[in-house]
Amino acid sequence: MKESGVKPLQIAVVGGSIGGLTAAILLHEVGHDVHVFERSASALEDRGAGIVVLPMTERYFAEKGSALGEDSAGNSDLALTLTYWTYVDRFGSAIDAAATYNRFTSWNTLYRALLEEFPSERYHLAHNVKDCAQFVGGVTIAFEHGESRNCDLLVAADGIASTVRGIVSPHTTTDYAGYVAWRGTVLERNLEPATAAIFEDAMIYQVLDHAHILAYAIPGLGDSTVPGQRALNFVWYRNAAGSAFEELMVDRHDVHRPATVPPGLVQDRFVSKFRQDAEQLLAPPLRDLVLACEKPFIQAIFDMAADRFVHGRIVLIGDAATALRPHVAAGTAKACADGWALCDHLGDGDDLDASLANWERQQLSLARTVAARSRRMGQRAQFDSKMVAGDPDWRFGLFEPGN
Ligand SMILES: Cc1cc2nc3c(=O)[nH]c(=O)nc-3n(C[C@H](O)[C@H](O)[C@H](O)COP(=O)(O)OP(=O)(O)OC[C@H]3O[C@@H](n4cnc5c(N)ncnc54)[C@H](O)[C@@H]3O)c2cc1C
Repeated sequence: MKESGVKPLQIAVVGGSIGGLTAAILLHEVGHDVHVFERSASALEDRGAGIVVLPMTERYFAEKGSALGEDSAGNSDLALTLTYWTYVDRFGSAIDAAATYNRFTSWNTLYRALLEEFPSERYHLAHNVKDCAQFVGGVTIAFEHGESRNCDLLVAADGIASTVRGIVSPHTTTDYAGYVAWRGTVLERNLEPATAAIFEDAMIYQVLDHAHILAYAIPGLGDSTVPGQRALNFVWYRNAAGSAFEELMVDRHDVHRPATVPPGLVQDRFVSKFRQDAEQLLAPPLRDLVLACEKPFIQAIFDMAADRFVHGRIVLIGDAATALRPHVAAGTAKACADGWALCDHLGDGDDLDASLANWERQQLSLARTVAARSRRMGQRAQFDSKMVAGDPDWRFGLFEPGN
């Protein structure tokens, strides 16, 4: 990271999740006056369960030589490495296994680690941005509770349903991809040892008819990465169209959830069908894992790509700029990469507009390439039924498969 070449800027980061926090930490460390505004009233937790850790996701920690990095004995507190990427058939027999050494953590673990790196007095919970307006050389942000604040640069990291993007780029559409991810976690110790064994050092995939499922270990209680004390995370992609999709996204209290039906709120009838399908379709270890999950939850998969990331002194990063389908496992890595690149480009000289234009060109190109790849993967797996066990193009990656 370069030292900032411009005078220190007052920077407001809207959204205090992985993308917002990473950008805030980096920009603060090079001398900008950074504040994060997060709408949640309490520290964020339980977003999305497991996360595949790509190099860019943990670059901050790797460069510091701490936290998510492994120690000399190969132990890591906050992420774990699984040697194999294994495909199984309906009966649980391995049909392909490759040594890919992917790394995994939980969303909570990564969030907590990042939060510790940012001054708490600069991280403001319960700050829901409802409006923003540009003036020459800056932006005024208005919060729901009535306060407002000026800044030189607004970094919008407020996710796929970004309020800021809705203001600066209201015509951007968010399109349902035609399938959802059923997700959940189970503590390893709650599974029979014979079932848990297959997950010990491998991420497991099963290709199904117009569907697929994967499962992998993540840190368990107390962020433990010790086998036996970890959690197992599954993601089962299932197609749902038209009214079937609309009904699925209505929770047990009759509230329509546009993107996520949280743990414990999926209607019983859908959970029963999900479990029935698990009995009939899944390889025994995956079946037992899914059946052991008490509160599966649902995330709908969407495509959303803003055609510009810079609007005057407002920049969009992470999911607020472009949401990727999860098959590349690069959403957090892209959000982090946007922050790293922004920090680098702000250090390029004292012409802020030129720096932002260069940043936008670079990150738009990256986002378009990886988003297109993620869409192709989803199409092949869920609609064309052309997902092939062992296909190296399925390797996770931000820049290309495997990287
Ligand atoms: C099924 C599934 C599996 C996935 N698996 C992976 C994976 O393995 N690896 C990976 O890297 N990625 C994965 N992702 C993607 C990943 O979760 C996202 O890409 C990533 O969380 C984006 O981070 P972000 O900081 O940009 O946005 P978000 O994490 O969405 O955070 C946005 C933040 O902004 C806040 N906010 C929203 N509106 C306002 C407002 N008006 N004012 C203030 N704050 C606001 C929100 O409360 C939230 O904290 C997966 C996604 C799905 C759906």
